[in-house]
Amino acid sequence: MKHQNDTIFALASGQGRAGIAVIRLSGPDVRTTLQRLAGPLPPPRTAVLRALSFSSKEGEESKLLDRGLVLFFPAPSSFTGEDVGELHLHGSYAVIQAFFRAFLHLGLRPADPGEFTRRAFEIGKLDLTEVEGLADLVAAQTEMQRVQAMRQMEGALGAVYELWRDRLIQALAQIEAEIDFADEDLPDDLSRRVYQQIATLKADMGKHLSDNHRGERLREGVSVVILGPPNVGKSSLLNALARRDVAIVSDQSGTTRDIIEVHLDLAGIAVSIADTAGLRVTEGEIEKEGIQRALQRAERADLRVYLSSPESFNHENAVNAFSIKPRDSDLLVMNKSDLLNKSSQSPSKLPSDILRVSVKTGDGMTPFLSLLTERVQSICGSGEGVVLTRARHRHAVEASLSALERFLKTETEDIGLRAEDIRLALRSLGQITGRADVEDVLDVIFSEFCIGK
Ligand code: GDP
Repeated sequence: MKHQNDTIFALASGQGRAGIAVIRLSGPDVRTTLQRLAGPLPPPRTAVLRALSFSSKEGEESKLLDRGLVLFFPAPSSFTGEDVGELHLHGSYAVIQAFFRAFLHLGLRPADPGEFTRRAFEIGKLDLTEVEGLADLVAAQTEMQRVQAMRQMEGALGAVYELWRDRLIQALAQIEAEIDFADEDLPDDLSRRVYQQIATLKADMGKHLSDNHRGERLREGVSVVILGPPNVGKSSLLNALARRDVAIVSDQSGTTRDIIEVHLDLAGIAVSIADTAGLRVTEGEIEKEGIQRALQRAERADLRVYLSSPESFNHENAVNAFSIKPRDSDLLVMNKSDLLNKSSQSPSKLPSDILRVSVKTGDGMTPFLSLLTERVQSICGSGEGVVLTRARHRHAVEASLSALERFLKTETEDIGLRAEDIRLALRSLGQITGRADVEDVLDVIFSEFCIGK
């Protein structure tokens, strides 16, 4: 890892030509750097308009680089906890490069990706879930993603794990006390009480985990796949959903051989919809590969739309032919409803739960979209409550829960061994927030059990 004492700089605003560019600096040399470029330091956290000039040689007249706003955030009341500076400049490549050259000349270095946030974490300004929430907020594409990221960045998720850690620390403290002071006056039912507390916590963790991956779905986006025989209008449906021509629409069978994906925002939820190769028995190697990919995608998808059409309905049932296991959430849709009244092409009997649409005329598209949105919403929940948003959290909570299960199951009377499982559970939880330290158990023992009295 690079040195923490370095003063770092980076463009904090987006790349490319813009009205304003923001350069951020952090580290011990921020004060002198700002003074060198902008004269006396502005008052803390107050934007001041300054002429910014620099000369690389001692005694040489400095050149005006730009005129812009200067902000100074003295440590520790800054984002990183160090001295931080911000320059709001004209947003051109040449202006930014002129400042970068000056900073390099002064011995500053370009920040690594995420290094400002990393410093904030290392100084203890943010825990890991808050760091992740911040990353998600910056990446958020939809309203629900923003709401979830914001909640996590504000510390709501970290608070859940910290509270669980506190409960484990309390339990551990009680066990430690029992070990150390076995012959002293401690309540008889201490073990039973600890056992009960752990069982309750285990149940809370179980509930937290059985969330159908709502938070992860919301963060990553819900994946929807359109499946069906060739020529039923899968590409047309995707185009209609995307309201632009992203997929090749053609009346020649087998034209969609790979997966084409569009990203949509349905009621604030990020959704990716994939158009796949038409399912049919074929000898074509490329088409076979396309079908294989379609089936794999169908396996992983959160939601599947089975599309058929009046012409295809009585044909070989593609779904059966490729032995796709049906799910309750699958949406059955028949496209080309405009052809249904042409009796020669109408299937004799349609299942009652099949939705009829015509991508061509637009008939049935609104109810279809409403149903799709409803299903997507039911996958992600209402967005209320604090849910885990990453596999990293899930694995750690699972590890913590299995340690507690071991604690509860173990037959041994050696309470010292049993305590080890609680320590493991504690460590796993600590990994989520980045505060994996069990030394603080001692503090609790001293404060609560008045040892040394
Ligand atoms: P895919 O192979 O399932 O992706 O099907 P396409 O989207 O390429 O469409 C196959 C053919 O069906 C094209 O000629 C479309 O214009 C046509 N088509 C798509 N939707 C409809 C519809 O609602 N009604 C009618 N009559 N034709 C449609």
